[in-house]
Amino acid sequence: MPPFDPPKRLLMGPGPSNVNPKVLEAISRPTIGHLDPRFVELMDEIKELLQYAFQTKNEVTFPVSGPGSAGMELCLINLVEPGDKVVVCINGVFGGRMKQIVERCGGIPIVIEQDWAKAVDPNKLDETLTQNNETKLVAFVHAETSTGAKSDIKTLTQISHQHNCLVIADTVTSLGGIELKIDDWQIDASYSGTQKCISCPPGLSPVTFNQKAIDKIKNRKTLVQSWFMDINLVLGYWGQSSKRTYHHTAPINSLYGLHEALLLLKEECLENAWKRHQQNSELLCKGVEELGLEIFVKEDERLPELVTVTIPKGLDEAKVRSNLLNEHNIEIGAGLGALAGKIWRIGLMGYTSDEKNVKTFLSAFKKSLNY
Ligand SMILES: *Cc1c(COP(=O)(O)O)cnc(C)c1O
Repeated sequence: MPPFDPPKRLLMGPGPSNVNPKVLEAISRPTIGHLDPRFVELMDEIKELLQYAFQTKNEVTFPVSGPGSAGMELCLINLVEPGDKVVVCINGVFGGRMKQIVERCGGIPIVIEQDWAKAVDPNKLDETLTQNNETKLVAFVHAETSTGAKSDIKTLTQISHQHNCLVIADTVTSLGGIELKIDDWQIDASYSGTQKCISCPPGLSPVTFNQKAIDKIKNRKTLVQSWFMDINLVLGYWGQSSKRTYHHTAPINSLYGLHEALLLLKEECLENAWKRHQQNSELLCKGVEELGLEIFVKEDERLPELVTVTIPKGLDEAKVRSNLLNEHNIEIGAGLGALAGKIWRIGLMGYTSDEKNVKTFLSAFKKSLNY
């Protein structure tokens, strides 16, 4: 069998996005020990760079060893105790997954179901919390990658706090792509991913917890069900650098990559990265509309890093996608769950969000539509 030689694709789906070559180069550097003093220094730098990316001073800010779903699970299983009422806002696939995890933790989910093309409605959250005044926690998604809708998580957090609830925000597709301010917006806990807007391969999930969230975890009456995910134990490794001890072997080379990607983000500056995502998205939307197609989400709730396009009736959408992939080496995403066959998902995340890529895509898309 020959070694695997991946084709060169332009990744314009819902993630992974293309990885900056500098990040790939960093990953190929020699592996060192996960308790090597130089590695411990690298861990501290990653934490500091993640604090910048999340715009937080939270000490408990680190990458979980696992994809975005691992961060989702870590946040929920540490913060939810059996019997806790948790309001879960569902306006796409990922909110639905949070509900399932809450159930597995023995929590009682109270679901706010929303239209799948829209942001979470703050009034509905306020009403739901008024009717369920013993709720402890509210969970929502900032950037719903399954629909392309952006929710106003600053307002959702304010409402939750008025009702004495902590919040967990899914920022998997927002970190590095759109404005996100953990401390200013007072978000208590959040998890993200590396393969969406920060130009890294998948496999790590940056998380951050403020003191209120940590206090709730420290005051649990029951043990966290998962040994691997128990943050009290994970922090033995990712907590204070002077006392680090073995918990699990960190994915060392992946962390080299994350460090490099975060350095690149800092060099570009967060605000510029947000602006780049916005500008390239506007260019994409304009081009798509010029082809006579409609954008699925209305303009003020649209995610720049993931544009969803309504599929015209009678069109073989899978054929368009396979033509893009096979003839032009461009990957876009199909609709997920209830939106399968109804929309395409076109990602412009991280390193992929580049004017040249938008132009390459539009010309190929036009050909594939007529194919
Ligand atoms: C991609 C994604 C996830 C899951 O991340 P994985 O790395 O695939 O586990 C969770 N939430 C949102 C909003 C996502 O886009």
